[in-house]
Amino acid sequence: MGSAALFEAAKSIRDWSVNASRTASAPPATGADVFGKLVFNDKVQQERLPKPAYRALRATITRGEALDAATADAVASALKDWAVEHGATHYTHWFQPMTGITAEKHDSFLVPTGDGTALAEFRGKELIKGEPDASSFPSGGMRSTFEARGYTAWDPTSPPWLHMNGNSATLVIPTAFVSWTGEALDKKTPLLRSMEAVSRQAVRVLKLFGSTAERVFATCGPEQEYFLIDRNFYFARPDLINAGRTLFGAKPPKGQELEDQYFGSIPERVLQCMAETELELFKVGVPVKTRHNEVAPSQYEIAPVFENANLAVDHQMMTMETLQRIAPKYGLSCLLHEKPFAGVNGSGKHNNWSLSDEFGNNLLGPGDTPHENMQFLVFCAAVIRAVDKWQGVLRASIASAGNDHRLGANEAPPAILSIFLGEMLTDIFEQIEKGSAKSTKQGGTLDVGVSVLPKLPRDAGDRNRTSPFAFTGNKFEFRAVSSGQNISFPNTALNAAMAESLDSVATELEKATANGGDLKAAVGKLLTKIIKEHKRIVFNGNNYAAEWEKEAGKRKLLNLKNTVDALPQLVTKETLGLFDKYKILNEREMHARYEIFLENYNKTVNVEGQLMVLMANRYILPAALIYQKQVAESVAAVSKAGGRSASGKKLLSAYTKLVDQFKAQADALETLLEHSGGSAEKHAKYMRDKIVPAMAKLRDLGDQIEVETPHEIWPLPTYREMLFVK
Ligand code: ADP
Ligand code: MG
Repeated sequence: MGSAALFEAAKSIRDWSVNASRTASAPPATGADVFGKLVFNDKVQQERLPKPAYRALRATITRGEALDAATADAVASALKDWAVEHGATHYTHWFQPMTGITAEKHDSFLVPTGDGTALAEFRGKELIKGEPDASSFPSGGMRSTFEARGYTAWDPTSPPWLHMNGNSATLVIPTAFVSWTGEALDKKTPLLRSMEAVSRQAVRVLKLFGSTAERVFATCGPEQEYFLIDRNFYFARPDLINAGRTLFGAKPPKGQELEDQYFGSIPERVLQCMAETELELFKVGVPVKTRHNEVAPSQYEIAPVFENANLAVDHQMMTMETLQRIAPKYGLSCLLHEKPFAGVNGSGKHNNWSLSDEFGNNLLGPGDTPHENMQFLVFCAAVIRAVDKWQGVLRASIASAGNDHRLGANEAPPAILSIFLGEMLTDIFEQIEKGSAKSTKQGGTLDVGVSVLPKLPRDAGDRNRTSPFAFTGNKFEFRAVSSGQNISFPNTALNAAMAESLDSVATELEKATANGGDLKAAVGKLLTKIIKEHKRIVFNGNNYAAEWEKEAGKRKLLNLKNTVDALPQLVTKETLGLFDKYKILNEREMHARYEIFLENYNKTVNVEGQLMVLMANRYILPAALIYQKQVAESVAAVSKAGGRSASGKKLLSAYTKLVDQFKAQADALETLLEHSGGSAEKHAKYMRDKIVPAMAKLRDLGDQIEVETPHEIWPLPTYREMLFVK
């Protein structure tokens, strides 16, 4: 079977290259020709909307002003005309329920007129509000005490686009999904609220430095890692189909995982697949920019130019969907799981994050002048304080069964949060810490704390790939985010933490400067205090080293090793208070998320456990018994011929023992999986403590059988095939 899939894969690669050379003469479309062609973007809005409607919509988008009904009607009408001209027959309210994927329900524009004909119609109220059947989306218990209804509400800050699919075109309207009481049932709503919160607090700080900005945007540029493998292998692996990762599979021999894969040349079929994916993304306005090979074989990365975080999140979801939609056209499957292959590097998502004012000034750019430096250092210190103070919720925001295989696995950042500042910034903050002590001696000339600052070079970054949260020159990079997850929640948590931190910073500076107090002195004092209190979160060394875990323990940093340990951080008194205070999620909304994340964990582990039992009994064991019989027959034949097969006997006895252990362990796992009852929390602990270890043991035995069993009877594509045949 493994060989059959290999044969099919080889055939499809051959067919593909034959076809590719046949069609190679078609000139490729260039990005600039098509970029944003399928988006109802600012340019189209300007062309097609009546002036007052355009102005009102811009005010909503840039300043968050409420949209009135007349404007909504005007926008709806122009939007429909534009969509219909592009061949659209349907529209959909696209939203991000708490399951992590996106959801949509399609409605036709057509309304029967009564004389046997129909008219395309689309009104403001249909643009603004939709009513999908909410009952099948998880609400974490929020709906049980309320009506089952949920609404999707248009998010005017993310422009609608057209989804073209073969013979159909659909107008896609990005929306938030809320219950009829206004509680968030999705991932977009809290993100938007968190962006408001961080904006409000950042504006207060900016004002102290003389800025006239009225709004600040969180910005985000997510780098997506993923695997592409031949689809024939994918279909021959029940674990890949149903769990997104391999549950069995012996590692390829050492040395095959050559480092030269990283940034190496990209195979032609993969390159063409990437090119089409990028072209499709360009059309819908996703500004993808870079592509390259990643560290593991058959692993790649795609990254966009950063945008306002809300748009970046929508575009990230579209990127994941497009990657998975286009790959099959090239005979490939795109794996977004955090750890599709044990023993091979997993995939993450580097969430580059910063703040920008409405004029486009990056608030985490060091700048050229001391004045800018001072403002930069305040924002930078606020990040340090935020990550230290809110490590728990940040860690929880990236927790999932899949990411448990990655974090702390010596290739990904550890489960401990820390910040890499780089030598230069660390040095500056050390000076500030000492500077203030010196200035006290000199009688309160706190100015020293700031004036000793050198001019900051633009690229302040040496690199440290092991850090979960790194300063990379003009932004922070949250690297522990997982490849398969919606990045909305980590960004929401980051914005929430930062809102609180900036609030505290602004309050302190406002107080100190209220009666003509010197800003520089106040800043010096504040920076010193923040560094003293929060420097434990700064770590520039190797995060993979065992010593760091010890050191982090001494520093009393949280070390939440798995999802079950991390998730309760969502519902601590402090976290609930944080999200409630800044009106991002109320207590019920937060508890709902806690429940849903726990349930996701439980379901994921359960599905994987069940699949392992199935694969053990119906794939691996039957193959093992065939081989066992072959060896037994061989031993018998040799003995009948009067010989003594020492190696055959030894093999038979060892192999039989292994197979017996394997079967016993499969049965044990099956029995363990029958467990039910208890709260989601209790069940999650059971899954972690009983099921996960039982799965690991079964896998280990299965992988031992794999390397002892002839390839021709092995029923599953092997790692060697999946990762290296491309
Ligand atoms: P690196 O090599 O350090 O990862 P890149 O320049 O390749 O840096 O950028 C990685 C990602 O960071 C890109 O998606 C980029 O758009 C994004 N990025 C750059 N500046 C910002 C910023 N100010 N805010 C958010 N993301 C940013
Ligand atoms: Mg990067």
